[in-house]
Amino acid sequence: MADIAETTARLERLRSAGPDPTRKPARSLSGGATAKASDPGRRPTLHLKNPPSLSAPAPAAARWKCKPCGTLFQVDESLAATEVVRCPACNARLGRAGQFRVETGDTPGVRARLVQQ
Ligand SMILES: [Zn+2]
Repeated sequence: MADIAETTARLERLRSAGPDPTRKPARSLSGGATAKASDPGRRPTLHLKNPPSLSAPAPAAARWKCKPCGTLFQVDESLAATEVVRCPACNARLGRAGQFRVETGDTPGVRARLVQQ
């Protein structure tokens, strides 16, 4: 004749064992999918705070000599090609910045002479 108390205790042990311990826990799939691009239609523009200089060892800026007054000056290379270059001394209009980028110094129309270094 089975002892009620013993049967209850056996049931309790079975219950406390819980689910089959040999079963592996279900793996979560939430982390597997690749995140969708937030805005595929737009590409972000990258801005460098300190862009590497491509013309790093820049040759010494060409010096020019104002024909009217003979003052030596340099043309700011950041000027647009259509920017008017004036002599810093006499303010004579010497030409356009684009004309000062000729390396030969053969610059018809420019009222300045390239000074060879
Ligand atoms: Zn001048």
